[in-house]
Amino acid sequence: MAFPLDRPRRLRRTEALRALVRETTLSPDDLVWPLFAVPGQRVRNAVKSMPGVFQLSVDELVAEAQVGYESGVRSCILFGVPERKDATGSEAWADDGIIPRAVRALKQKVPGLLVMTDVCMCEYTDHGHCGVLEPARVGAPGAELVVDNDLTLPLLAREAVAHARAGADVVAPSDMMDGRVAAIRRGLDQAGFSDVPILSYAAKFAGAFYGPFRDAAESAPREGAGIPRDRKGYQMDPANAREALREVALDVAEGADMVMVKPAVPYLDVVRMVRDRFEVPVAAYHVSGEYAMIKAAAQAGWIDEERVVLETLLCIRRAGADFVLTYHAREAARLLGGGRR
Ligand SMILES: [Zn+2]
Repeated sequence: MAFPLDRPRRLRRTEALRALVRETTLSPDDLVWPLFAVPGQRVRNAVKSMPGVFQLSVDELVAEAQVGYESGVRSCILFGVPERKDATGSEAWADDGIIPRAVRALKQKVPGLLVMTDVCMCEYTDHGHCGVLEPARVGAPGAELVVDNDLTLPLLAREAVAHARAGADVVAPSDMMDGRVAAIRRGLDQAGFSDVPILSYAAKFAGAFYGPFRDAAESAPREGAGIPRDRKGYQMDPANAREALREVALDVAEGADMVMVKPAVPYLDVVRMVRDRFEVPVAAYHVSGEYAMIKAAAQAGWIDEERVVLETLLCIRRAGADFVLTYHAREAARLLGGGRR
C-alpha cells in the first residue's frame, strides 16, 4: 500500500476527540479505600512500608474517612487489629470488637459513606492464620497443624453477622475457606440481614505482594512449632487462572453478590477472564505491595507518581474491574477532581 488508509491517529488529534472515543473511564466512584482500625484514642501509627497509610484509632479513622469522603471517596473497607488475639480469634465476632465500633462510628459521623468490612480470622488469631488450626489428619509437609476449613465456617458467619449488626453495608470474606460464602449467607439471612450483600475474595492468590499489608494489619502467620509457614494451603497458586474461574463459579453459586480478584496488576488476565465469564460485579484489589512499589519508585524520583497511579487504576478498570480497592483511593479521587476521566 502506498499510504495507510486506516489511520487510528486521526482520532487522537485533540483532547476532545480522544475523550469522545475513550473506552474506559476512571471515577472516584470506582474506588474503595482500605482503612486499618486499631484500639485506643488519637492513635495514628504510620505503616513504614506503605507511605501515607496509617493504623488509626476509631476517632482518627472517622476523621480520615471524612476527609476522603469530601475528596470524593464514597466507599471504604475496614480491617481491624484487635485488643487481644487468641487461638480461635474470638474478638472477630465480638459486638464491641474493633470493627463493629469503627462501623458504628462511621455510620454516625459519615452517613453517606459505604462501609465494607473484611471478614477473616487472621487479624484475630494468635497464630495469624485465616482459620482455626487443628492437627492434620492427612500428611501436611512441614506442619503438624492445618487450617480446618469446616470448623472455621461458623466463626466467619458469626463475624459477618456482628459486622452487619453494627451497620456494615457489605461484608467481604477474604479467608478462602471452601463453602464460606454459603455459610455467611445463611448466617446473615437467619439473623435478619438478607439485604446485606457479600463481596467475596473469590480468586485470592498466595504470593509475595501482601508483605506491607501484614505490617499494617499485624496478621502475618506466626512462626512456631507445627504452624503452617504460609497460606498456600488455602490461597490460590499464582500459576492458575482456570482454577480462578472455578473458585468464582463456586462463590457465585453460593450467593456471592460481587467477586474479587486479588492482587490486581499481575493478575489482570484473570480479571478479564472473570469479567467475560460472569455477570456479577467484579472487583480487583490493588494490594499493599503494588502500592509500596509505586510509592518507593516515586520517592526515588524514578516515576511520575500521579500519572502512574491514574494509569494503573485506569488499566485495572480496562481489564474488566467494575471497581478497585486501593490505598491510592483518596489521592486518586483528589487528582480526578471528583469527575470522570
Ligand atoms: Zn485472612
